[in-house]
Amino acid sequence: MAEALPERIRPVSLGRSGATLNGYLTLASLTRLAGLASGTDGDVEVSIEFKLDEQKVPLVNGTLRTSIGLVCQRCLEPVSVCLDCTLAVAFPDHPETPIDERYEVAELDGDEVSLRELIEDELILSLPITPLHGDGEHCDVTPDWQSDSNSNQQQQNPFSVLAELKILK
Ligand SMILES: [Zn+2]
Repeated sequence: MAEALPERIRPVSLGRSGATLNGYLTLASLTRLAGLASGTDGDVEVSIEFKLDEQKVPLVNGTLRTSIGLVCQRCLEPVSVCLDCTLAVAFPDHPETPIDERYEVAELDGDEVSLRELIEDELILSLPITPLHGDGEHCDVTPDWQSDSNSNQQQQNPFSVLAELKILK
């Protein structure tokens, strides 16, 4: 069942209790991401676990799944791209604290952080640089005028057109 995710989270207390969060965010609510998309229908499926490492540093581990509308860079038509990414963020108290390199390091605002921004940042980073339709999808780059002129040329030889112009002079 869809569950409303909190706007802001407290990683220390969530990590201490080993909490999990599962729910959805609408793509339309992620305004920076929505500004990069051609379509913002749909949801982001979010599943996150919280824990503390041996140094009591709060860690956030999660998966984000969504399908977003982008513009195909081959045919310039809309293309739906599936994003399936992992979220791995650590919130150490001190910048010198050694952190497992799998984690991105972020700062807390007091003891809180915006869950929405964490999710949005990760999704923006995982957007493809060059979105393209897949092999099996319609992705036609033939301009309309080309097929039209082909059919005209079958009926009219360009040299016969020149011949007619000369006669008119
Ligand atoms: Zn295409």
